[in-house]
Amino acid sequence: MAAVTDEIPERPLPATKRPAAIAVFGPPAAGKSTLCRALLDPARVFRLREHVSGQTLRATQTTATSLGWIEPDEVARVLHEYFTSDATAPDSGDVLLDNFPGTGDQVHQWLSIMAEAAPGYRVVPVELDAEDSVLLSRAACRRVCADCEPDAAGEPRLPAAIAKANPSRCGDCGSILARRPTDEPRTLAHRILRYRRASAAIRIAFADHGLPVWTLDGSLDQQRHRALLTRLLTNEQGG
Ligand SMILES: [Zn+2]
Repeated sequence: MAAVTDEIPERPLPATKRPAAIAVFGPPAAGKSTLCRALLDPARVFRLREHVSGQTLRATQTTATSLGWIEPDEVARVLHEYFTSDATAPDSGDVLLDNFPGTGDQVHQWLSIMAEAAPGYRVVPVELDAEDSVLLSRAACRRVCADCEPDAAGEPRLPAAIAKANPSRCGDCGSILARRPTDEPRTLAHRILRYRRASAAIRIAFADHGLPVWTLDGSLDQQRHRALLTRLLTNEQGG
């Protein structure tokens, strides 16, 4: 409940807002990382791969023939650690999970960890989706910067700024940009297919816990996404 004060507020006090753990998932190149970056401070964005060792990442690398997964026990360890850390203390505000969960099993696993370790959070699942043609053309254009994004497995993933004067270079540090190996057309096609197969299970798993999945159109611009999410979070406030 809102705090009671002696002063009469000019506007109604906002209802007490429980922090939200917003899970942003969707097919590759839907714009998940870009959306997360636009919405919250990078410190408030959780990415599974940033919490596991380089050894684990290298052992689970995605190629055209193998779509690597991190072991469930390791995922559970990381989630538990993250949601019991100071970074996610009850008064620390909303967090975004970029590209998580990836399967229905991960939904169940995550929600049981939340219920036990971080019951103060309300979970808001958001799927960012787009037509395959949009995903393919975006992935063909996006580049990453190994210097701006040190990655434990040497596989940077976050979209880099492209220099205006020279599109082959990073707009932030000037290094030569690279394509993500997982954006190669054959690997990308596997990843999109894998996502399409997993998404129904993800939705069903959230529904099992009484959580509707909100879908954002990945072809809309960031401002529109921000407005939609703000409205969504405001409407969900009582939950
Ligand atoms: Zn750079």
